[in-house]
Amino acid sequence: MPDNLSVELLAVQSQMAAFVDAQLKLTEDALPSQHQRVREASKQAGFFFKTQPAEFGGSPASALELTMLREMLAATNSPLASSVFGPGPGVLHAAEGTLRSHYLEPVLRGEKRGAFGFTEPDSAPRPTYAVVDGDDLLVTGIKSYVTGGATADFVSILVNVEDADGGKLGTAMVAVDRLASGVTIDREFSSMEGGGHVSMKFDQVRVSKENVIGKIGEGMPRALGNIGNVRLMVSAQAMGMCLFVLDYVENHLKAPHRSGSPLGAREGVRLRYADMRIETYVARSALYRTARLVDDGGNTVNETIATKVFCTETAGRVIDMGVQLVGGQALVTGHPLEALYRQVRSLRLIEGASDLLRINLVKGRLEMDKGRV
Ligand SMILES: Cc1cc2nc3c(=O)[nH]c(=O)nc-3n(C[C@H](O)[C@H](O)[C@H](O)COP(=O)(O)OP(=O)(O)OC[C@H]3O[C@@H](n4cnc5c(N)ncnc54)[C@H](O)[C@@H]3O)c2cc1C
Repeated sequence: MPDNLSVELLAVQSQMAAFVDAQLKLTEDALPSQHQRVREASKQAGFFFKTQPAEFGGSPASALELTMLREMLAATNSPLASSVFGPGPGVLHAAEGTLRSHYLEPVLRGEKRGAFGFTEPDSAPRPTYAVVDGDDLLVTGIKSYVTGGATADFVSILVNVEDADGGKLGTAMVAVDRLASGVTIDREFSSMEGGGHVSMKFDQVRVSKENVIGKIGEGMPRALGNIGNVRLMVSAQAMGMCLFVLDYVENHLKAPHRSGSPLGAREGVRLRYADMRIETYVARSALYRTARLVDDGGNTVNETIATKVFCTETAGRVIDMGVQLVGGQALVTGHPLEALYRQVRSLRLIEGASDLLRINLVKGRLEMDKGRV
């Protein structure tokens, strides 16, 4: 539960509240310079480094602390919130050699940006593959949904590796430069929450074996290595959105209404608002419980799945009802609830579609005896 936080965490919570007040209000300046201002202020305040490994000068926070802070930031509903935390290592977290010097270190310094290529088109003749050619790999295939791929310096992609005779060697995650010969962007598109994406084509792209993240054969575990943390992050974001909407709707229910009495005076409206609060209360309880379990160590795959599914589906219902109670104004382009309504939809697809996660959860239970209730 979000309650019973330690004295230390309560202090961090107050610091973040002060930071939000001082830094996250939009000003008249251009948005990029406001992001830059927030990044600098966050470095000064120490928040920026909480997502970065200690060996690179970071001061990584616990899962519980990050959950608390991410929820707070999402609850501000400020576009500047995305600049508070520094870039994390993502799939490159254990990179060594060239991978470390050419990709991981510049990423953590904010000098390079990577994208992630996992999803494939339904129409592809075969999944993306790489053929070993001496010290190199020749990569061929399509990654159809690469967020930020148009401007990323490189993309980390999952490939099936085979030898020159077609012998299967297993999967691998490989870092490929966006400007490498043979890489093309065959489609650029945006999605309703505002994200920009590309479909990327790889045609016999020559990549050094040094660009393999980990070892050949470790592709899938490497691709999913950080997924638990990311699912917890998405869950915290979903709960922050709920907190923003609850607050917004509460003010709306107390405000004058053309009928002569505030909407909050009506029992039917109160029932709907009660459900929004009940669902958020239960989901937040799950979120904080799971964050504590993650910090305790041990296997928390199923708990994180349960939390991600429940928090994101809850946020979908809460925001939908928020729109309903605020009425037609909430759907006017530019209204905060209109934007949130679009943003929340993607959370049930990214980092594991809800039903696939349900299937994984039951697999974890029936075949591996994992998972608490
Ligand atoms: C905003 C956004 C950003 C994204 N960014 C990236 C990115 O950077 N990199 C990347 O690689 N991908 C990215 N994706 C793609 C995302 O990972 C996929 O959309 C997601 O994994 C679902 O895969 P899919 O779209 O191919 O749907 P499908 O796999 O075709 O699934 C569609 C639906 O079918 C059902 N279904 C599918 N399989 C099963 C099954 N076995 N059992 C039961 N039901 C099933 C589920 O209801 C599922 O939701 C992004 C998507 C969005 C929306």
